[in-house]
This record gives sequence, structure tokens and C-alpha cells, in this order.
Amino acid sequence: MTSPGSSSLPIVAHWIDGKPADGAAGRLGDVYDPATGEVTRRVAFAGKRDVDQAVAAALAAFAAWRRSSLSRRSKILFAFREIVADRAAELAAIVTSEHGKVLSDALGEVSRALEVMEFACGIPHLLKGGYSEEVSTQVDVYSIRQPLGVVGIISPFNFPAMVPGWFFPIAIAAGNTVVLKPSEKDPSASVWFAERWAEAGLPEGVFNVVHGDKEAVDRLLEHPDVKAISFVGSTPIARYVYETGTRSGKRVQALGGAKNHMVVLPDADLDLAADAAVNAGFGSAGERCMAISALVAVEPVANDLVAKITERMAKITTGDGRREVDMGPLVTSAHRDKVALYLDAGVEAGADLVVDGRSVVPDGAASGFWLGPSLFDNVTPDMSIYTDEIFGPVLSVVRVPSYEAALELVNANPYGNGTAIFTNDGGAARRFQQEVEVGMVGINVPIPVPVSYYSFGGWKSSLFGDSHAHGSEGVHFYTRGKVVTSRWLDPSHGGINLGFPRTF
Ligand code: NAD
Repeated sequence: MTSPGSSSLPIVAHWIDGKPADGAAGRLGDVYDPATGEVTRRVAFAGKRDVDQAVAAALAAFAAWRRSSLSRRSKILFAFREIVADRAAELAAIVTSEHGKVLSDALGEVSRALEVMEFACGIPHLLKGGYSEEVSTQVDVYSIRQPLGVVGIISPFNFPAMVPGWFFPIAIAAGNTVVLKPSEKDPSASVWFAERWAEAGLPEGVFNVVHGDKEAVDRLLEHPDVKAISFVGSTPIARYVYETGTRSGKRVQALGGAKNHMVVLPDADLDLAADAAVNAGFGSAGERCMAISALVAVEPVANDLVAKITERMAKITTGDGRREVDMGPLVTSAHRDKVALYLDAGVEAGADLVVDGRSVVPDGAASGFWLGPSLFDNVTPDMSIYTDEIFGPVLSVVRVPSYEAALELVNANPYGNGTAIFTNDGGAARRFQQEVEVGMVGINVPIPVPVSYYSFGGWKSSLFGDSHAHGSEGVHFYTRGKVVTSRWLDPSHGGINLGFPRTF
């Protein structure tokens, strides 16, 4: 996966045309182990030449790959899925070493990536078109879906295995070739995938990886041979990627940030709701786009709920994700410091800091990027701890008087990724599912991440473009439709006719 650099640290190289490529740009970034705070690897940052080389390899591979039979493609996908499943623990360990999340959580994200691989194994079925016989005399019409060409995938740090895995199995299964630009913070999982693809027999050039920052992203966005971009990251960058990519004629799906609300109605099972709020608020140190960050307590439940959550938070252990702990460190020291500043901001704005994560005693090296779970109560919608996506282990309780006020709060939020309602009232749940303006809704389920055969994606500032990830929308995104009208001539139907074709 890595080669030795000039310092003693290994370098995470690009992967171009079936092999590692050190890169022409010469720029390198640091990759940390967040649980020790040490730089463990360096990663090559791609410049224009590296990206162009990867796109050229992908374009050259496209001609043959799109013509490879569906049975060959699905055999390779099956083989890839088997290899990844057999070695899932190895991939999870890589994720934990660069992201920091606990091993069980890393394994969870690998299992969600595997689900998409399994879905993509069904590509022969997924690409089936329609056929209408005899739409006119001896005329048949049928629809087919064809691959786009080279597609770019740009992914965030928080799911280095799952998020790329939402896209590349389907893109490749559909006959496209891929250039993946993973997050520079945890780049090794992508190269691990590239090595496994090679073992599974994927032809060289079909799956390429370039590392780096804005320079690599911008080149992918402007490159004329890149036909589509799947992006996942923060909302300002998602908006930029969508606008820039579509301006240069590309098909773009850009999934952005989130502020996910969990509404608890007075009739809910408060123990269940408190468990869910803790799991969804602090799992992966809150660095999940589907994390619950705003708990909307419909009175009179707030006091009881805050007490139950506080009780549970006292039991959360924070430490090195390779140990038996519940929550790992944050991804970088800069991010840890940024999240910690929100704790000051919340107090200054008048919220009650019920649990302060800065006092945590971690089970890990002193130099790790630690911040324990924090809980705010009496948060109001004007406070920055409510308006901003903090992306850390901070849960804010907003008290509201009624279901209507809860709904209004959720719908007024500019984000619309995920939301959940906790209630024992089926009618209220059904009303919420119908009225809420959010892309993914949980009913007594706090993190409603759809399974791979449904599509993942938010509304409003949580997604730019009109296609969600994986499921049928993923297949649709990576293919274009064509409709064929065919007639095998009977000589009696010849002759000139300048009229518009009619079916009667
Ligand atoms: P980020 O926006 O900083 O980075 C995402 C990608 O964009 C990375 O590959 C990065 O290298 C690149 N990038 C960074 N700055 C850039 C710039 N100026 N120009 C072009 N490219 C740039 O996001 P992150 O911090 O890696 O990930 C966390 C964010 O991702 C959160 O906002 C989270 O909500 C979001 N996210 C959303 C989803 C979703 O499905 N909606 C899923 C996971 C994460």
C-alpha cells in the first residue's frame, strides 16, 4: 500500500493504471494516527499531470471495459466482494489507524460498503431495459442504458471505506472507469481497495486513485474527459463542486453537510430515545453526516430525557479505537480545537453545558486528539451550536412546546439530510414522514441510513444535483438512456414518406 519516502515515513502513493505511482507534483501531506497524534505516513498530493495521467489511463481502459460482458463484470465484482469480505478486519484496522473511530465502527462502515458491492453484483438485472414489440407494423422499440465514460469520485474523511464504496462498485459494474480522489486525511483505504480490485482481476486502468487537495479536485472538475462527478463533503465545497462541474458540462451529484434533528414526542419510550440519542450523537465521535446533533424535546419530556442521557453519557469511554472503548479521538487536532471552541460559544450564548467533554480522561496516548462527549440543554435556534454543523461529539437539546413547533424547526433548517422521530403513535409518525422536508427519515430509528438497494441522499443544502447515491438512482446516475426504434424491413413497406413517424 505504501512505499518508503525520503524520510523514514512510508508514502501513500497514487494508483494509476494498475500500479502505484509516486506522482509528479512532489507535494506531500501528513497522515496522522489520531489516537497518538503522530504522523505515521505521508501522502502524495496530485497536481495536474498526475490527474491527467489517471484520467488518460481510465479513458484508455474504458473502450474495452464497457464492452466486457455483463457476466465477466459480475464475476469480477463477486471476486472483489469475496476478497474484501475475507479481509474486512484488515481494512477496518486501516480506517481506525487514520480516522480514529473504534474498530467495531470501522467494521460497520466496511459492511455497508460490502452491501453496495453485493447490490452491484446484480448489474445484469439492474441494466435490463424495456422492450415493446410491434409499436407500429413490424416496428419494435427498446431502451438500453450505457456507461458514461470516466467518472470522478471525491470523498470525505469521515467514511474512508463506505463513502467511496457507495459509488465505485456501481460505476464500475455499469461499465465506467473511475478516478477516485479520497480525503487526504485518511487516504490508505482507497489504495487498499485498488490492490484488491487488481487481485479480483479488474483490468488495469478501470479503477485509479489520486490523492490530494483542491488542486486535484479542480483538475477533475475541469477535465474534458471526466463525464461525471460524485462528491461527498461539506456543504460549501459540495456547492462549489456542483456549480463548477455542471458549468463544464458534467453530470454531478454533490452530497453536502447536515444538521440532523431527532424529535422526541411525549408518548415516546424515553429509555429507547435516550439510548438512541447517545448512540447517534456520539458514535464515531459525532463525525457522521447522519449523526444526531439536535435533539428536539417536545415538552414535557425534556427534563427526564436530559437526565437519562446524562446518566448514559457517564458510562461512555473515550480512547484509542483499537482498545475496548466506545468513542475514539477526533480526526485532527485542528478539528478537535474547532469543536472545543463551540463549547465556549454555546456557554457564552446562554445554553446550559450539562456535560463538558473537555474534562474527559482518555484511555490512550496523551498526545491523541481527544474530546469527550458533550451535552447542551436549553439551546435556541439562533445559537451557533445550533446553526452550524459542528461535526463532533456535541449534542444540543432544543425544547419545544408541540409537534407543530418541532416540525417547523426541522423544516426551517437549511440542511435536510437525515431526521428521526421517536413516538409510540403511528399516526404522528406517519404525519411526520409525510410533512418533514428531509431526505432520510427514521421512525424510532436514529440513523436511518438506507440499505444499498435504496438510495442515500438528503434534500436542500445536503445535496446538490438530482441523484442520490446507490440503489436505482446510483445505477441511473452512472448510465445514460438510449431508446432504439427498429424495423426489419419487409420489402412491401419501402417507399418515400416525409410525414412524421406515427404509431397508427
Ligand atoms: P470536506 O468538504 O472538507 O472535504 C471533502 C473532499 O473535498 C475531500 O476529498 C477534500 O480533499 C476536498 N476538498 C476540501 N477542500 C476543498 C476545496 N476548497 N476545493 C475542492 N475540494 C476540496 O469534508 P470533510 O471534512 O472531509 O468531511 C466532512 C463533511 O462531509 C461534513 O460536512 C459531513 O456532513 C459531510 N459528509 C456528508 C455526507 C452525506 O452523505 N451528505 C457523508 C459524509 C460526509
